[in-house]
Amino acid sequence: MRILISNDDGVYSPGIAALAEVALKFGEVRVVAPDVEMSSASHSITAWRPLLYKPTPLKDITAFRVNGTPADCVALGIYHWDKVDVVLSGINLGTNLGNGLWHSGTLAAAKQAVLFGARGIAFSTPSTDKEPDFEALKPWVEDVLKLLLPDPALMLINVNLPTSPKGLRWTRQSVRHYDGKVMPSRDPLGRTHFWFTVIPLEETEQDTDRWAVEQGYISMTPLRLDLTNEHELREAAQRHPLNE
Ligand code: MN
Repeated sequence: MRILISNDDGVYSPGIAALAEVALKFGEVRVVAPDVEMSSASHSITAWRPLLYKPTPLKDITAFRVNGTPADCVALGIYHWDKVDVVLSGINLGTNLGNGLWHSGTLAAAKQAVLFGARGIAFSTPSTDKEPDFEALKPWVEDVLKLLLPDPALMLINVNLPTSPKGLRWTRQSVRHYDGKVMPSRDPLGRTHFWFTVIPLEETEQDTDRWAVEQGYISMTPLRLDLTNEHELREAAQRHPLNE
C-alpha cells in the first residue's frame, strides 16, 4: 500500500513525523508537506506562481517540502508518485471539529486525495500550551488505521483524537455551533486590528465529533465531497418547475 503523508502545520511539525512512523507499519510511506505552516488554508490551491518540490530531511522517511498549500502538496505528491492508495493528513496540532472543517487545511489534504481518486484520512488532536504526547497517541493512530485502511468503502474520514483516548466512536459533524469569533484589539501604535479567535462551545449534540472528543473518545466521521442538498433539490424542483 502506498501511503502519502501531508499536513497543514508544515513538514517539520512533530505531528507529521508521528503519523509517518505509524504509517510505516502499513505500507510504503512518503511525506509531502508545506515548507511553512498553512493552518486554516482550507482547500486553496496556488494558481498564480510556480511551486517547488524539494527533498527534505525527515528522520529515515522520504520527504519533500512544497512552498504551497496542503492541497498543492497532495497534488504534487500524487503527480510524483504513481498509484497512491491513501493520503493521511496530520497529526494536526489542534482539533478539526464541527464547522471548523470548512477552514481546515488538514482535512483539505485528505479531500484533495479523494478528488484525485485516492482515499483520504485526516488526523487532529488538541493542542494547548503543552505539545501533544504523540508517543502516547501513536498506538491509537495504529488502531484507527487497522480499522479504516482495510475498508475501501471509507473514502474520506475525519479523525480527531482527544489528549487521552478511552475508545473509538463513529460520529457525525457537529454543525449547530460555530466557534469562530472576531476580536478587535489595538496594536502597539494604537491602530485597531482584529484577531479571528476561537470561543469555547457548550451543549454539544450527542454522537457528534465535538461531543465524542469532549467525552474522551476518538471521533471518526465519514465525509463526502458532494455538497448537494438532496432534499432541497427535490423540493425546489417541485416548487419551481422549469420548462424544458
Ligand atoms: Mn494545522
